[in-house]
Amino acid sequence: MRATVMYGAGEVRIETVPDAGLVEATDAVVRVTRAAICGSDLWPYKSMEQSETGRRMGHEFIGVVEDAGSDVRTLKAGDLVVAPFVWSDGTCVFCQEGLQTSCLHGGRYGFDGVDGGQGEAVRVPQADGTLVVLPVGADDALMPSLVTLTDVMATGHHAALAARVGPGKTVAVVGDGAVGLCGVIAARRLGAEQVILLGRHSDRISLAREFGATDIVSERGDEGVERVRELTDGLGAHSVLECVGLEQSTVTALSIARPGGAVGRVGVPQEESIPAGLTTFMDNVAIAGGPAPARAYIEELLPDVLAGRIEPGRVFDRVGPLDDVPGGYRAMNEREAIKVMIEF
Ligand SMILES: [Zn+2]
Repeated sequence: MRATVMYGAGEVRIETVPDAGLVEATDAVVRVTRAAICGSDLWPYKSMEQSETGRRMGHEFIGVVEDAGSDVRTLKAGDLVVAPFVWSDGTCVFCQEGLQTSCLHGGRYGFDGVDGGQGEAVRVPQADGTLVVLPVGADDALMPSLVTLTDVMATGHHAALAARVGPGKTVAVVGDGAVGLCGVIAARRLGAEQVILLGRHSDRISLAREFGATDIVSERGDEGVERVRELTDGLGAHSVLECVGLEQSTVTALSIARPGGAVGRVGVPQEESIPAGLTTFMDNVAIAGGPAPARAYIEELLPDVLAGRIEPGRVFDRVGPLDDVPGGYRAMNEREAIKVMIEF
């Protein structure tokens, strides 16, 4: 089969790799019908050291179950399934608490002999605990939005929950990438009244407005902080969604939270420490977040996607075949595309 392999910064290739096949009795093999490139795939794309063997890429995919191991109970060949961006058993103490990203028997795609999602097929470990059957056909018009449930929409929702978004709240979203845009959707969905997007790309800003952003702040650093304060009666936002992970965006996020507010961090941190400690301490600002347990959120978000109440799939502005993946990485890295979907 063919799949995406990264060999170093800027070096993405489509190659022939061993076919996906069952290894454990709890595995399923999924023939991929849609996949996507994630903003987090761009970190190795920018910085990965040269590797002889390469690294299989991708963790966002939907596909059809081709084969299931003898212990798999909830899935059968032919089922269309959506895969959260990590696999998990669904039974351990953390899975039962809805934190499948900390599953005691879970793991990530593309590591330890598990296929990446940007390829023709994937062996999914712990298939019963991981995969969710979709009640639509593989070519349904909702496919782009359903693909976002694997990661970005779940991650935006996680940021909103971590930032304690609720009815009537003032929310600021730092970052206008796909996760930030989904954060806008999530904030409105949870009843936020004012949603301020901090971003500066015109195409993303107009999409954010359509998703329900009420204000846009394009200034950065201290100017951006000042602008958010002006928009919030000088108080700052109740809830701040940090959707980038860089030092400056983190400082900005912490600086625009109002006393007693909360910051939900879902941008993978590129720095070791959380800055601006003293002010956030004095202001009783809660700092929460981490990788989203997408598996826990799919069931909650799925009805809204199926009913068309939310349309997170609009973040995809480039669609292509598997051979377009290297070009898709380039386009996302150069900010020519917000997010790329792959059709098989
Ligand atoms: Zn578990």
